[in-house]
Amino acid sequence: MTDQPKPTTTDAGIPVESDEHSLTLGAEGPILLQDHYLIEQMAQFNRERIPERQPHAKGGGAFGHFEVTNDVSAYTKAAVFQPGTKTDMLVRFSTVAGERGSPDTWRDPRGFSLKFYTTEGNYDMVGNNTPVFFVKDPMKFQHFIRSQKRRSDNHLRDHDMQWDFWTLSPESAHQVTWLMGDRGIPRTWRHMNGYSSHTYMWVNAQGVKYWVKYHFKTDQGVENFTQDEADQMAAVDTDYHTRDLYEHIRDGKFPSWTLKMQIMPFEDAKSYRFNPFDLTKVWPHGDYPLIDVGRMTLDRNPTDYHAEIEQAAFQPNNLVPGIGPSPDKMLLARLFSYADAHRARMGVNYQQIPVNAPRSPVHSYSKDGAMRINNVSDPVYAPNSYGGPRADTARYGEPAGWYADGEIQRSAYVQHPEDDDWGQPGTMVREVLNDAERERLVNNIVGHLLNAVSEPVLQRAFEYWRNVDKSLGDKVEAGVRAKADEMDPKAAEQANPARESMQAKA
Ligand code: NDP
Repeated sequence: MTDQPKPTTTDAGIPVESDEHSLTLGAEGPILLQDHYLIEQMAQFNRERIPERQPHAKGGGAFGHFEVTNDVSAYTKAAVFQPGTKTDMLVRFSTVAGERGSPDTWRDPRGFSLKFYTTEGNYDMVGNNTPVFFVKDPMKFQHFIRSQKRRSDNHLRDHDMQWDFWTLSPESAHQVTWLMGDRGIPRTWRHMNGYSSHTYMWVNAQGVKYWVKYHFKTDQGVENFTQDEADQMAAVDTDYHTRDLYEHIRDGKFPSWTLKMQIMPFEDAKSYRFNPFDLTKVWPHGDYPLIDVGRMTLDRNPTDYHAEIEQAAFQPNNLVPGIGPSPDKMLLARLFSYADAHRARMGVNYQQIPVNAPRSPVHSYSKDGAMRINNVSDPVYAPNSYGGPRADTARYGEPAGWYADGEIQRSAYVQHPEDDDWGQPGTMVREVLNDAERERLVNNIVGHLLNAVSEPVLQRAFEYWRNVDKSLGDKVEAGVRAKADEMDPKAAEQANPARESMQAKA
């Protein structure tokens, strides 16, 4: 009978006697330790959660495919980008600072993580919806994220520590301008672009190298929430972005993005007006125009969020032949830290979880460890005389690298003629935004600072914005001063209970 429910079993497949009653001695007697099914249910429940990601804890995702529509084989030999190739994909979108249950519509950059299941292994790109980042040296990343998360004393998020870090880190100005602008709150994940942010290397079949940046442009058009709209949505539907993506895919309205590349000849990097590996800078479109590559479409929802999204492991070190890293120090550190984070969250064999497993054959020498599923066969070492896998050095022996020498040192990036922290955000404010967008930018900054940030950080914030654009900084200061005067002092105190303790510490 097909409409009969399946019989409940234990995890070992043994039919159970009841979904409702535990095993007792008499109707009211003690519960018996031999009720293995009850114990299995309780024990499993106690272990259901795995540690949340630090950061990017809140997110959602879907499956789809990437189809190459142009011929970029002159720039890369990567199988995934050869003409006409269609590759299955997994994508995860996320906020950065919030915890696993936090609102989707908080002002924050959005993670844009991609896994291409290519014929030459998994290719992952762990990007954002912004083309730049807050810091350029991985030494500062941990500190940046801590300033975005929660204080140690009262466990509250605190704008004062965010602005303290930002104003002491002028390289953050480009990304903070972006964050405080309209794109700081995308209307949905479908309505935002994705960027590699980092510069990567492409290598063609002849071994010629290029520096590249990826731009996934939304085919739905860029749309954003105002701060008020986002605040209302956070109160009404914490999971709005997760729901929106799921429901659109469920209803057959598949979102897509067009991949366009900026491609820089290898030798240009030395003399380009900006250091092309500095993650706080873009390459202006006029210098390196966008070249079409193909289209990414999401058309299948996960059926088990935990198995397929919570356990999804994206790692920028998953680079396939024809694609390599660049001297971007943030990228170089991320090549280590993502895989390390996955080992910490899920154990050393996380790449055997079906969503992370490549669709191409694996012949690695990794052995044993907790939760190993794939059988390991002898020989378990290399080199060996017994037919074990052997690296194809003739085919894959050239690393995608660059020439480097010099003293071992801790230093800033090599300065290029137009490298400064204020130039590109200033261009965005003066030349990209229109009057209405500039006004919303001022209001968003004022709202973020007001009654949440104390001296000396507040004064530094005004100078920070004057450095980006004199008139912008003046308007921010005027806005904060005017609104602070309007505020009832009791309401101001209630708006930020952490402020007094911050001031006491200072
Ligand atoms: P362009 O005029 O060619 O590009 C400006 C770009 O700014 C647009 O293409 C768009 O990016 C993006 N943009 C538009 N509105 C907003 C907004 N409200 N918030 C954030 N970004 C927005 O100029 P350039 O390439 O010469 O760059 C000028 C400045 O634009 C840069 O200093 C940088 O701040 C910003 N920018 C540049 C990008 C680049 O890669 N060159 C990318 C994004 C921003 P998109 O087309 O990707 O949607």
